[in-house]
Amino acid sequence: MDENFLLQTETARKLYHQHAAKMPIFDYHCHINPKDIADDRKFKTMTEIWLYGDHYKWRAMRTNGVDERFCTGDASDWEKFEKWAETVPQTLRNPLYHWTHLELSRFFGVKEVLSPKNARKIYDFCNEKLNTPSYSCRNIIRMAHVNTICTTDDPVDTLIYHQQIKEDGFDVSVLPAWRPDKAMMVEDPAFFNHYMDKLGEAANEDIQSFEDLMDALDARHQYFHFNGCRLSDHGLDTAFAEDYKETEIKAIFKKVRRGNRLTETEILKFKSCMLYEFGIMDHSRGWTQQFHIGAQRNNNTRLFKELGPDTGFDSIGDKPVAEPLAHLLDRLDQENKLCKTILYNLNPRDNELYATMIGNFQDGSVPGKIQYGSGWWFLDQQDGMKKQINALSNLGLLSRFVGMLTDSRSFLSYTRHEYFRRTLCNIIGTDVENGEIPADMELLGSMVENICYNNAKNYFGF
Ligand SMILES: [Zn+2]
Repeated sequence: MDENFLLQTETARKLYHQHAAKMPIFDYHCHINPKDIADDRKFKTMTEIWLYGDHYKWRAMRTNGVDERFCTGDASDWEKFEKWAETVPQTLRNPLYHWTHLELSRFFGVKEVLSPKNARKIYDFCNEKLNTPSYSCRNIIRMAHVNTICTTDDPVDTLIYHQQIKEDGFDVSVLPAWRPDKAMMVEDPAFFNHYMDKLGEAANEDIQSFEDLMDALDARHQYFHFNGCRLSDHGLDTAFAEDYKETEIKAIFKKVRRGNRLTETEILKFKSCMLYEFGIMDHSRGWTQQFHIGAQRNNNTRLFKELGPDTGFDSIGDKPVAEPLAHLLDRLDQENKLCKTILYNLNPRDNELYATMIGNFQDGSVPGKIQYGSGWWFLDQQDGMKKQINALSNLGLLSRFVGMLTDSRSFLSYTRHEYFRRTLCNIIGTDVENGEIPADMELLGSMVENICYNNAKNYFGF
C-alpha cells in the first residue's frame, strides 16, 4: 500500500497525484453523529472509534467464528480489539482489509499489517494518539481534508447539534439531510403511531388526519431548510408508485392512526403517496432527493430481537424496481416537479438498469440532473465501484458524476474517498495506455478533479 497503491499505469499515477489527491472531500451522505462533532468528541480507544458501531466488522468477526460477546457484547475494549486483530488476516480480498490498513496508515502513520502479533503494540500506539487533542472528531475531519459533510437526520430531530457546530464557527460545513423513512412505516401501526405523536410534538401539530400529517412534515421540512438542509434521502427495498386516490389515502391514514393493521395494497398505496409528496416538497425548496434502493433488512429474527436493526443482518434484495421507479419519477416529471435526484442501487444485477433509468429524466436544466450514485454498502468495494463507473460510462456521462461519499458511521472512513479516487484514476489511466482515450492531461485532469469534488459542489449548491 505505497503511494502508488491501485495505480497500475503512469497515467493513473499522474492523474491521482497531480489531480485527485489534492481535492478536498465533499461527503454528501454519511451516518456520523452530529453530536460527536458538536462536542468535538475524543475517542478513548481504537475499539470505540472502530468497532462500536461497525456492522461490517461485526459481520466479518462472526464469520470468522468470533463470539457475539466480542462484537456487540460486554467484552472489554481490548478483548474486542484483539478479536478484530485476529480476524483481519482472514479478511484478505475483502474491502475491510484495505480499509483497515488505509485508516491505520493515513490517520496514524502505522504501516504494518495488523495481526495478533502486533495487536497490543498498535492498540496502545493508536490509543495514545487518540487521547491527544489532534485526534478529536473535528481534527480527524480536518486531517482528512474534508470540506462539507451531510449527516442523516429524522424530521423530528431538533438539529441543535448542527446549530451548535455552526455557532462555533467550525471551518467544515456540517449540514443536516432529511430522512423521513419512519413517516412511511405504516406496516407497523404501533410504531407508526408512536412516531406520529413525536412528529406532532416536533411540529406543534396534533396529527389526526392526513392533512395534519402533511402540514407537520412541511413545517419540519421548512425548519430543516432554514437550518441549511438541501438534501433528502430515502432507504427503500424498492420504489413505490401504485395508483391511488386522495380520498383513499385519507381513509388509510385514519385507519392506521386508530391502530388498525392495513392490507398489503393499502400499505403500498400509502407509501406511493408519501414518496410522491416528499418529491414535491423537495422540489418546492430546490433540494436534491436520494433513493437508496434494494436492501433486504433484518433477515435474522433471533438476532434482530436481541440486537435491533443495523447490526449486520441485512443483505441484497431482488424486488423488481424498473417499473415502479420509472413510474414514480415520471409522475413527478409530468407535473414538472422532479427535482435533482440520485439513485443508488444495491443489487449489481440492476447496474445497467439504473444507468439507463437516469437518462429518461435528464432535462437539460442541470448537468447530470439525475445521477446514478456510487457503489453503495455491499457494492462499496473495488469491484462494485468499477462496475458502477463502467455502467455509468457506457450508458451516461461519467464526467458529470457527483462522485463518492462515505455512507459511514465512522470518523475514519474518509479514506474510502481515496480508495475511490485511486480506482477512478486507474480506470482512466488504463484506457489512456490502451490508446482508447487521448492522453490529454488537461481534459482528463479536470474530469478527475470534477468527479472528485467540483461536480458535487456545483450540483448541490449548498
Ligand atoms: Zn446511508
